[in-house]
Amino acid sequence: MQNVDVVVAGAGIWGCTVARCLAERGRRVLVLESRSAVGGNVRCESDPDTGIEVHVYGSHIFHTHLDDVWRFVRRFVEFNGYQHKVMARYRGKTYFLPLGLPLVNKFFGVELAPGELPAFMAEGTHRAQIFDAFFRGYTSKQWGRPPEEIDPTIIQRVPVRATYDVNYFNDYNQGIPLTGYNSLFDRMLDHPNIAVECNRAFDLAGHAASPLAGVPVFYSGPIDRLFGYRYGELPWRSLAFERETLDVADFQGTSVVNYTEAEVPYTRIHEFKHYHPEDADSMARAKTVIMREYPRAWKSGDEPYYPVNTPESQSLLERYRAEAAKVKGLTVGGRLGEYRYYDMDQSVGRALAAVESCGVIG
Ligand code: UDP
Repeated sequence: MQNVDVVVAGAGIWGCTVARCLAERGRRVLVLESRSAVGGNVRCESDPDTGIEVHVYGSHIFHTHLDDVWRFVRRFVEFNGYQHKVMARYRGKTYFLPLGLPLVNKFFGVELAPGELPAFMAEGTHRAQIFDAFFRGYTSKQWGRPPEEIDPTIIQRVPVRATYDVNYFNDYNQGIPLTGYNSLFDRMLDHPNIAVECNRAFDLAGHAASPLAGVPVFYSGPIDRLFGYRYGELPWRSLAFERETLDVADFQGTSVVNYTEAEVPYTRIHEFKHYHPEDADSMARAKTVIMREYPRAWKSGDEPYYPVNTPESQSLLERYRAEAAKVKGLTVGGRLGEYRYYDMDQSVGRALAAVESCGVIG
């Protein structure tokens, strides 16, 4: 690309959305991605043996109540009608999450009507028994600390309903791209005003010394890395995955089963073919790909997955934000840049808003 109006550093869902919107407003955009491919942690891989779309960084289900976001992503791909359900395995029995009538009735062997659930849960030890079975062990594994020590909004992500609705998300718009997640990113970046360079990490000093000095930057890598970790590293929670191809058509009958007991070392098993129920051949074929997910303490150099929200990490974040605010033409966003536990739709929504408010257009 001859002339560049904007640099987008990081090609996850936030960066790709920013790049596309700016390109459509006539800006010439150079996208720099430090990994060898675009898509961030939503990047998938087609399993060479089975052709099954494997979510390499763990399951990603697109779900949103934001109409502008839903309209935006569907310009690039069609979504299948997948509706996410999560099962929880506890002491050899399998329950429907979230916390609703199917789970409570099965767990206690009762037959509550919707209106009876709140009083039942308020009674005696019922709430504690449910919490201990389904949340204590899982949360301790996931976060490496007891649930009392984590930000309560994290557990509140799991809905509570006095109904038989076993949809894991409250959002009415949901699905998986029919042509796979990678096609979403490829199509977003397929624009004459966008050039993409992979295997190119961004750094501020290098930018300032390059011919692109002064060109506005939209950055979605880790904010502490942008400033050379000068105040220390922001803490993360990491994950490890163990993938297996099995010679059975169906291993667990659904895409995600959570293992909520503390004694089981992994938190969940993903079985990817269930994300594409429309692919009848794959569903029938006697092969499946599963992936066990193991939470890990994070150390420098590991893949960052979940920000760890503590007073210390927030004050560190504030220091880096203050540094970012001093850099002219710099917009920082995305999960890594904002150090926030965003769902995909929130990242797209934040990117759409960032483009409108950045001053690069209009
Ligand atoms: N959680 C739990 N048991 C479960 C599912 C979730 O204790 O079976 C808690 C856990 O602390 C987790 C949080 O709820 O980190 C949010 O769950 P969600 O399924 O949204 O996690 P994600 O898919 O984003 O990792």
